[in-house]
Amino acid sequence: MARLFLGIDLGGTNIKIGLFDDKLTLIEKTSLPTQPEKGPEFVIENIAVAASDLLSKNSFSKEELLGASVGCPGPVDLKRGVIENAPNLPLFRGFAFRDALGRRLNIPVTMENDANAALWGEHALGSARGVKDVVLLTLGTGIGGAVIANGHIVHGHCDAAGELGHIAIFPNGRLCGCGQRGCAEAYASASSTAKRAIEEIQKGRESTLKELLEQNKTLSCRDVYAHRDSGDELACEVTSLTHEVLGRLCAVIQNFISPEKIIFSGGMIARGDDLLNDIRAEFEKYAWPGRQDSVEIYFASLGEESGIIGNAALAIEASRNIEN
Ligand SMILES: [Zn+2]
Repeated sequence: MARLFLGIDLGGTNIKIGLFDDKLTLIEKTSLPTQPEKGPEFVIENIAVAASDLLSKNSFSKEELLGASVGCPGPVDLKRGVIENAPNLPLFRGFAFRDALGRRLNIPVTMENDANAALWGEHALGSARGVKDVVLLTLGTGIGGAVIANGHIVHGHCDAAGELGHIAIFPNGRLCGCGQRGCAEAYASASSTAKRAIEEIQKGRESTLKELLEQNKTLSCRDVYAHRDSGDELACEVTSLTHEVLGRLCAVIQNFISPEKIIFSGGMIARGDDLLNDIRAEFEKYAWPGRQDSVEIYFASLGEESGIIGNAALAIEASRNIEN
């Protein structure tokens, strides 16, 4: 009889589900639209049907499925298994998602913040493998974060640890979505990078991006980087500030918990070595003198699978804890 586990990554747009054995080998994965507007019970039913399909397609029985973990957008209350107020999942607010999913699947289910689960995946099989002290920064619409210290995920008192995108880099700086000013996220996320370029053009700055903005009514972070490559002064200035903010953020993180590695994930890392080398160079400017070499800055290696792998690892560990 096989010993199987589900790693589930619940996003505002898609749900990714992976079926794993107890050695953390992926057997098969699937993805389905979340449709959060239909509410949590609907989503749970879809997860249960997808899980059942994964089992039957691979000729396993329900009895072989021993546990699951679900990664959810924060903030989450991990003690109660509740999604608190994720902006993309308004109908889930206050709903006891973990226990309802456990009842429907009829197996023990654990819950984790999605960024923490992604870092746990990188720690199990990816670029943070075997690293005891490591920090993840995810570059997307916002800047997410997660921290592993001495081999354990840091949750903090209210499960709110790791909100590293909201470390203020410039006091009294740009207004952030969190209501504070000067946060790293307000400058250096993919969305904020594009937004800063748009604002400068609207203020009258000349740029080769101007025509594209008039055409499309918006700009993406990718557009800004493409124009950096062709030498546009504004695009260079905007992206250089993104790199400076990320380097400064790494220096703050180093002073705070001194990780062995800081790893970046998210769509922006498709940019490659150009981004990584600039962040490293900026970090060196702001790091504690003499300690510039004590942190390695890298990209995450598992891509979108980090969430399902991390959750499967958490489900396997939870089942061992129950057995012991
Ligand atoms: Zn903020």
